[in-house]
Amino acid sequence: MRILKLFAFLGLCIIVGSCNQNENMIAKIYSAASSDTTSYHNLRILCKNYPERLAGTPISIKAIDFLQEIMEKENFDTVYLQECIVKHWDRGEKEIGKAITSKGVELKLNVCALGNSIATPKSGISSEVVEVKSFEELDKLGNDFIKGKIVFFSKAMDSTKVNSFEGYSEVVGFRFSGAAVAARYGAEAVLVRSVTTRLDTFPHTGVMRYNDTIKPIPAFAISTVHANLLSKELAKEPKLKVFLKSDCKFLADEKSYNVIGEVTGSKFPNEVITVGGHLDSWDNTEGAHDDGGGLVQSIDVWRIFKKIGYKPEHTLKVVMFIDEEMNQRGGEKYAELAKLNGEKHIFAIESDAGCDRPIGFSFDLKESYQKQIYSYRKYFEPYGATMFANEGSGVDIEFLKEGHDAVLCALITDPTHYFDYHHSGYDTFERINIDYLNQGSAAMASLIYLVDKYGIK
Ligand SMILES: [Zn+2]
Repeated sequence: MRILKLFAFLGLCIIVGSCNQNENMIAKIYSAASSDTTSYHNLRILCKNYPERLAGTPISIKAIDFLQEIMEKENFDTVYLQECIVKHWDRGEKEIGKAITSKGVELKLNVCALGNSIATPKSGISSEVVEVKSFEELDKLGNDFIKGKIVFFSKAMDSTKVNSFEGYSEVVGFRFSGAAVAARYGAEAVLVRSVTTRLDTFPHTGVMRYNDTIKPIPAFAISTVHANLLSKELAKEPKLKVFLKSDCKFLADEKSYNVIGEVTGSKFPNEVITVGGHLDSWDNTEGAHDDGGGLVQSIDVWRIFKKIGYKPEHTLKVVMFIDEEMNQRGGEKYAELAKLNGEKHIFAIESDAGCDRPIGFSFDLKESYQKQIYSYRKYFEPYGATMFANEGSGVDIEFLKEGHDAVLCALITDPTHYFDYHHSGYDTFERINIDYLNQGSAAMASLIYLVDKYGIK
C-alpha cells in the first residue's frame, strides 16, 4: 500500500514536472514571438511588392522568389521549390457595371468578375434585372420570367452570427453556383451581393463553378453599398436596366511552385509535421489576412524554435502552398509527392483564417486521438486560445487525409471581422495587428512543440 502510494506520488511528480516543463516552454515560445518584428516586416514587403498574386500570374512567381529568399535566410536544412502546373485565369480589363434608369441616368455599380467566370461579349450585356434572395425564388419564377435577364442574388450575409463563418456558409452558395443555376433558366449573367457584412464599396471576389452541361454565363460580385443601391432603384423602377462588361479569360497553363523549408527531425526523420499557408491571393487584393499572414506565421514557427534553441524531433516542413484560391494544385501536388516518396505525415496545421486574435484550433482527427490532443488545451488558457473543436482543417492540407494517419488542424482566430477583408481590396497590410499576428505564430509553434514532443498516439 505504501509502495503504491509512493508510486502514485512519484507519478504525480513526473506529471506535474512535465506540465511545468511544457508551461515553461510555451511561455518561452510566446515570449520569443511577442518581441519579434521580422514577420510583420516581411508581410509588409509581400503585400506591398507582391499583391494580387493569383496562381499563374507573373507576380505570383516573383512572390515565390521572395518567399524562397526570406526562407533561405532562416537556416532551414533545405529550402526548395516543388513544381506543379496551374491554370491561369486573367481578369483582363477592369469590369464596368452601371444601372441605367428610364430617364437615362447612369448609376455606377462597383462590380468584379468572379474567379473562373467567362467574360461578357466585348460590347457588354445590357438587360433587365431579376432580384432574388433564394434559389427557390428563382425556381418559382422559372424560364419565362428569367430568360434574357440578369439575375441579382441580393441576400445579405447575416450579421447577427457571432461566428461569421456560419453567416458566410449560408450565402456563399450564390457566389459559387449562382451562375450555374441561373443559366438553367436562360439568364444572361448573374450579379451576386458580396459575401461580407461590412457595408463598403469593394466587390469581394471568390471562386465560382459552372455546370458542365449548361452553357456558362458571366458571373459578377457587386459591392454591398451598390447592392443596396440597386435594390432601392429596382423597387422604384422594376424595369431598370443594368449594363455589365468583363474581359476575363483563361490563358495557357503555367508552371508554378510550392515553396518548402525543411528541418530534418533529430529522432524521427521519417515522420513529418507540416505547417503552412497559401501564397496565392486573389487578384484584387494585397492578400494580407488571406493569406500572407499565414505564410509568415508558418515561417515563424521555425524561427521561434531556433530562437529558443528547440530542435524538432520530427521532420518539420514549412510550406507556402500555391493555388489555394482557384484549384488547389499546390496542396494536391504536396500530398501526391508525399505519398509517392513514402513519407509518413503525423500532423499538419494551416493558418488561413485571417490574422486576428487567435482563439484556438480546429481539427480533423480520429476519435482515438482526441483525448491526447484535447489534453493540450490547458496550456493555451493563459493565452486565450482555448477553442479545441473537431470541425475540419485547411484546404491545402486536407489532401494529406488520404493515405496518412495524420491529425490535421487549422489555427482559428476571432472570426468577427474576417469577411470584412476577405477577397477584396480592403485586405491590406494596414489591417494587420502585429500582436495578433505574433500570437498566431506562437499558438502554432506551441501546439507543434507538444505534438513533436509526444508524437501522435
Ligand atoms: Zn485563404
